[in-house]
Amino acid sequence: MIKPNLRDYTIEEIKELMKTLGEPLYRGEQIFHWITCKNAITFEEMTNLPKTLRAKFSEKFSLELPEILNKEEDIDGTTKFALKLADGSLIETVIIPERDHYTLCVSTQVGCPIGCKFCVTGKLRFKRNLEVYEIISQVVLARRYLKEKGEILPLRNVVFMGMGEPLLNLQNLIKALKILAHSKGFNYSRKRLTVSTVGLLKEMEILAKEFPVALALSLHAPTDEIRRKLIPVAKKYSVKELISACKKFPRIKNSRITIEYVLIKNVNDSKECAIKLAELLKGYPFKVNLIPFNPHPDLPFERPSSDKIERFQKYLLSQKILTTVRKSKGLMINAACGQLGAKFLKYSVPDSMYKKTAFRTS
Ligand code: SF4
Repeated sequence: MIKPNLRDYTIEEIKELMKTLGEPLYRGEQIFHWITCKNAITFEEMTNLPKTLRAKFSEKFSLELPEILNKEEDIDGTTKFALKLADGSLIETVIIPERDHYTLCVSTQVGCPIGCKFCVTGKLRFKRNLEVYEIISQVVLARRYLKEKGEILPLRNVVFMGMGEPLLNLQNLIKALKILAHSKGFNYSRKRLTVSTVGLLKEMEILAKEFPVALALSLHAPTDEIRRKLIPVAKKYSVKELISACKKFPRIKNSRITIEYVLIKNVNDSKECAIKLAELLKGYPFKVNLIPFNPHPDLPFERPSSDKIERFQKYLLSQKILTTVRKSKGLMINAACGQLGAKFLKYSVPDSMYKKTAFRTS
């Protein structure tokens, strides 16, 4: 029989388990603490728990992490893991070093049904949503990895920008966010948990009501015409609707809503695009994150010249729109935005299936 993974449980649910076992509730808090901030992977490690309770739990529950199939480290320190889940599905997780902390980019789905034209993951077959424990396990695995390496800087930010559209796995996403933010566990500030979405309005409203965290909108174009060419799902909502939905989304501790914009040569990098983008965003505390496209052999796009990137940024700044250019972390290992999963997933599905979902230029 396959044992349920305890990382699927919130602290309240673990306390409920204690009730049914006739154990004091504080034992539930202890176990939650072990499997979150202490990154335990066995019940034997939980030395402040009675042996009998540890034995009961290891009979009934698993704490198994995904298997690390491959690890690639870029010279800039970005580390990408290819992880094999219990059912054989493959996902990727990326640790990104920053000046005084680490950021972890996690996946929420195996493959992605959105199919953005500039994204390698989007070319692959969508297989399934990740379970809560599979999302949490990526965080535990990364924290253990950094600890084993002797890193002293904290893993401070978790961004949901890996494989998949997080809002298509909404209930599992919300539960995972609650576990990550719980003060008796990982205790991540909601400001440090960022969910990135192509803009699914109904789901954004639910997230805003149930558990708002930092939001990043993958906009990538200032007009519906260009956006619809890049993101098939964009047909459903207009750019204007998305921007007004962002304005209604709660801002955690007054933080800015991020606008993600992959800059692609001769597609969305013109002066006209910059002007239209500024018009769209002005007057509200957005932060634009320009991501120069990272060329990939399977994608028919190019990166704009450094001059053009700089001009685009300068124009937005001149319009008083906070704009940063994302450093190309992980370029050497294809760990950049929209390029996860390329190497491993490509070979994990039958070739015929891969060809069916291959990139189309129209
Ligand atoms: S960019 Fe994100 S939403 Fe678009 S296909 Fe890739 S993983 Fe999916």
